[in-house]
Amino acid sequence: MPMNEERPDFWTCIWRGWRGKCPRCGEGTLFSSFLKMRSHCPVCDLGLEPYRADDAPAYFTIFIVGHIVVPMVLAFEKYGSEPPLWLHAALWLPLSVGLALFLLPRIKGAVIALLWAHRIAAPKPSTGSFDPSA
Ligand SMILES: [Zn+2]
Repeated sequence: MPMNEERPDFWTCIWRGWRGKCPRCGEGTLFSSFLKMRSHCPVCDLGLEPYRADDAPAYFTIFIVGHIVVPMVLAFEKYGSEPPLWLHAALWLPLSVGLALFLLPRIKGAVIALLWAHRIAAPKPSTGSFDPSA
């Protein structure tokens, strides 16, 4: 793939990634299962392996879920006339897990699209041998 290829605008790429679609064509899917990346786009054959999100999707998901749930917990505690702990657990655990499961693949797709849009590819994996003359 030439480095000077025409790419869609940044927000189009992010939106395609958020929807789990290839950032280049917008039709092929990024994932073969819940969070498992495909090696190539099945429609336009864009190589996806160099674009590794690593821990960024988990970080952003925790950040967002925490900033949604924690204020709700605090407000509920303050204005809810001291609700019992089992009620907190019954409300906030499913909400936190549900939000995380909803956001994680979308954020991972958006991060992959962001990496592709900015041409931030991981270096090729080492072969394991070191050549000091190279
Ligand atoms: Zn594609």
